[in-house]
Amino acid sequence: MADDNISIYDEIEIEDMTYDPTLQIYHYPCPCGDRFEIAVADLRDGEDIAVCPSCSLMIRVIFDAADLPRDDTEQKGASQVAVQG
Ligand SMILES: [Zn+2]
Repeated sequence: MADDNISIYDEIEIEDMTYDPTLQIYHYPCPCGDRFEIAVADLRDGEDIAVCPSCSLMIRVIFDAADLPRDDTEQKGASQVAVQG
């Protein structure tokens, strides 16, 4: 993989993370006492690395785009159409 130059502390399933609907972020406890954070918008963009702002550790978020919460506050249009078949 092209990104093996970054060190991933762990890989976490998104269902094990906590969703904050106000900030539209997922977070997960970091061993340093702070927490890893990643925005839902970043996940939608294909980003899967959550970073702890205090110690710069990173985790890879295991998720399926279909599992992301719907964006209720900002309708982005019909980018997701029904799957045919
Ligand atoms: Zn940390």
